[in-house]
Amino acid sequence: VHVRHKDGQVTPYPADSVIAALGFTADIGPLETWGIEIVDRKIMVDTAMRTSVAGVYSAGDITEYAGKVRLISVGFGEAATAVNNAATYLDPDQPLFPGHSSDDPAGIGAATSH
Ligand SMILES: Cc1cc2nc3c(=O)[nH]c(=O)nc-3n(C[C@H](O)[C@H](O)[C@H](O)COP(=O)(O)OP(=O)(O)OC[C@H]3O[C@@H](n4cnc5c(N)ncnc54)[C@H](O)[C@@H]3O)c2cc1C
Repeated sequence: VHVRHKDGQVTPYPADSVIAALGFTADIGPLETWGIEIVDRKIMVDTAMRTSVAGVYSAGDITEYAGKVRLISVGFGEAATAVNNAATYLDPDQPLFPGHSSDDPAGIGAATSH
């Protein structure tokens, strides 16, 4: 395996296999220029997953708030919170809670949803 460093230097290493370990360091790229409050490469959000920029929501490991727990299930929940709050931002007449699919006897997808 040949590893090319940022300075262009290449170091050869003997290896039987390569296991990629990606995503350990957040790289927020252009988001850094949007004016969003970012602390230690994490996007600060409130309980509605609102960032410091109106109309911009965030969810998942990239978010930060007091008591944050970085697990898959937490990210899923935050995504639902972010999407439903974004929907009411776009259309304030929409209810924040979209309802349960099981509320409608016609079946999944038939209930009011964003
Ligand atoms: C070693 C390890 C083990 C874990 N085990 C568990 C576990 O057992 N159970 C559990 O619940 N959680 C576990 N987690 C935590 C879990 O992986 C995360 O909570 C979850 O993956 C977060 O999902 P996410 O979509 O927010 O972020 P990610 O899964 O990190 O997805 C973010 C995506 O955005 C991409 N990205 C980054 N920057 C940019 C950019 N500038 N432009 C475009 N795309 C970009 C990344 O490449 C990545 O694909 C583990 C984490 C680690 C590191």
